[in-house]
Amino acid sequence: MSEVIHVSVDADGIATLLFDRKDNVMNVMDMKFMTELETAVKQVAGDDAIKGAIITSGKPVFAAGADLKDMEAAQERNQNLPLAERLKQNASLSMLLRRMETCGKPVVCAVNGIAMGGGTEIALACHYRVVADNKSIKLGLPEVQVGLLPGAGGTQRVVRLVGVQASAPVLLEGAALSPEKALKMGLIHKVVPQEQLMAEARRWILEEGDPVQPWDKKGFKVPGGAGAMAPAVGQMMVVSNAMIQAKTFHNMPAPKAILSCLYEGAFLPMDKALQVEAKYFTLLNMDPVSRNMIRTLFINKGNADKLMHRPEGVAKTVYQKIGVVGAGLMGAGVAYSCAKLGIDVVLIDRDQAAAEKGKAYSSKRLEKDIAKGRMTRDKADVILARIHPTIDYAALADVEIVVEAVFEDRGLKADITRKLEAVLPRQAVIASNTSALPITELAEAGQRPENVIGLHFFSPVERMPLVEVICGKKTSAETLARALDLVGQMKKTPIVVNDGPGFFTSRFIGAYVNESLSMVTEGVKPALIENAARMAGIPVGPLTVSDEIGLDVAYHGGMQRKKDAGAGFKATPTFLLVEKLVGELGRHGRKNGKGFFEYAADGSKKLWAGLAESYPLLPTQPTVDEVKARMLYSQLVDAAKAMAEGVLLDPADGDVGSILGVGFPAYLGGPFSMMDTIGIDKVVAECDRLAAAYGEQFAPPQLLRDMAGKGQTFYGATRITPPALSKA
Ligand code: NAD
Repeated sequence: MSEVIHVSVDADGIATLLFDRKDNVMNVMDMKFMTELETAVKQVAGDDAIKGAIITSGKPVFAAGADLKDMEAAQERNQNLPLAERLKQNASLSMLLRRMETCGKPVVCAVNGIAMGGGTEIALACHYRVVADNKSIKLGLPEVQVGLLPGAGGTQRVVRLVGVQASAPVLLEGAALSPEKALKMGLIHKVVPQEQLMAEARRWILEEGDPVQPWDKKGFKVPGGAGAMAPAVGQMMVVSNAMIQAKTFHNMPAPKAILSCLYEGAFLPMDKALQVEAKYFTLLNMDPVSRNMIRTLFINKGNADKLMHRPEGVAKTVYQKIGVVGAGLMGAGVAYSCAKLGIDVVLIDRDQAAAEKGKAYSSKRLEKDIAKGRMTRDKADVILARIHPTIDYAALADVEIVVEAVFEDRGLKADITRKLEAVLPRQAVIASNTSALPITELAEAGQRPENVIGLHFFSPVERMPLVEVICGKKTSAETLARALDLVGQMKKTPIVVNDGPGFFTSRFIGAYVNESLSMVTEGVKPALIENAARMAGIPVGPLTVSDEIGLDVAYHGGMQRKKDAGAGFKATPTFLLVEKLVGELGRHGRKNGKGFFEYAADGSKKLWAGLAESYPLLPTQPTVDEVKARMLYSQLVDAAKAMAEGVLLDPADGDVGSILGVGFPAYLGGPFSMMDTIGIDKVVAECDRLAAAYGEQFAPPQLLRDMAGKGQTFYGATRITPPALSKA
């Protein structure tokens, strides 16, 4: 009895292999899929009455690709498996598709839905590929995005269809291709209206039906040549590799492995070429980079998107209308993002002109989209009409949630909370977009602290995927659930954290910036600091980040801390550096053209040479690795502290938040994945070394020492149990 691949044979001897899992809403490709496809292929090959076969899907999505959850579990399970056995396991789908391709009967792939990843690899192994003309269909091989390569023949079939040069972007970027684009490139044979899909597949079998792939025919040549004998390919390999390493600093093994597959595999016979691909796939599969990327960017992010922290038993809220107070950069971004998704927004600022300016942010963006042909005027008008700029709080009388995004000022935010409570329905949520002010304190300003929560969006709101949801001490489960509903409706990824100074993301990026600025004060070359950050895989260097956010912001924050601490305040070297730059020298960062960099009118910038006058350079500079270690370990320690203090509820939140929110290197999978990969005992030893050399900021929290002692990891079989979410 089949559960995954259902075979039927018609009167013309055409077999349909219908991919339609009865045990899963998605057509995932796992062991069961392979077992049933194997049986079906044997039937097609062995039954003389069958002339050819059509593979198609019984679901709207053709195939969901390999089950990454399975793959992650197997990576854990197979750690001690002999290499030869791992290689065999990893090559099993590839070998099966090769048996299908050489079964002696013509096989057509009739693609009727999205077929990214494994779905595209099935299609490529078929002799004829016909795709329905449907806007939702995408083909492509996105494996590189999780540190892998398409290991079921994808690299070898693409290169044989389109040549080395054209296949590089498909494989190295993993872009999703429309049917038209795939046709134009030569990856598929035909695009037809949906209703003609099966008829075209049948026609091809009956009228043409060639059961031999071009690469299995005598005299086949890869378009444009392959291997060392093709000079253009050799040149392209050198340049591509240099370009990739210039971008990824040797941190990403997958692009290099893909280039190796193209170079080494393209001129070999197909069976040998598939072995080359399987070898590189296995190397990537054994590498912690793919494991960490799959876990954080796919599994953990997927769970976050499913609102894993949403308390049960609270009815789902679908918002028709929300309020936003403060129509500056962040408020305007929230308004724009919501209006685009069909939500009405009451946009309040202190005067009508400021509120209108917030709305103008949306019109500017929509005009750009219209100019690029991505949006029609009519649609843009509908979106704009959803934003209602005003100064009248009474317009909020029927909204269920308000995002507050006024200046980062406690007194002002407290005042807004009181104003909101006066007009909002009793149960309405007040969500502050503060970057660092304690939510518990903001909540106490009003009468209903249980309704107050933090929704920390990132800039630019419409592009940044993360929202950090911060629970104050009194935030209720209902409030958390309803705030998460808005994040879900905005199609953003939430992480949920408890209140604490800088929550998680702000303190986490702060640790990196602080450590980097400390290095400046010690006389480490600013260029070395910036470059080491990029080489570690951090997208934006710490001095650039400081200038972009504004040194004045750091200055005002420092002054506030000084005021709060009173006589007990101890100025750190970083505090003194910022005080000098802003207070004495008026260097506010990019906004006034002067910060760690000098900004020219044409937008170019160069490091400010004057810094060395106040902070003379060390005669012997540290190594790049030492600078990288200080940046990354300052964040590891901070993440561990956030977990120990109960700010973080789950390592998954820390890992997802660090990459999606503040640019922690994706290849490391986040601070907790990084610590697990290194081994907690080794992390503790390195922290102790750094603490002895550079200061207490590296002292590991007791949690890490305890975990090291017990041989625990954050994620593994001996995973620590994080403190439970108190509100759930
Ligand atoms: P902004 O200066 O661009 O906007 C603040 C807006 O608040 C202005 O339009 C101002 O007129 C308005 N405002 C001031 N007083 C008001 C009042 N009494 N009533 C109504 N509106 C009033 O600031 P922003 O960058 O949008 O930041 C807003 C909040 O978001 C801050 O708490 C900030 O810390 C936080 N935040 C900012 C970023 C960022 O990258 N800019 C990122 C995350 C969080």
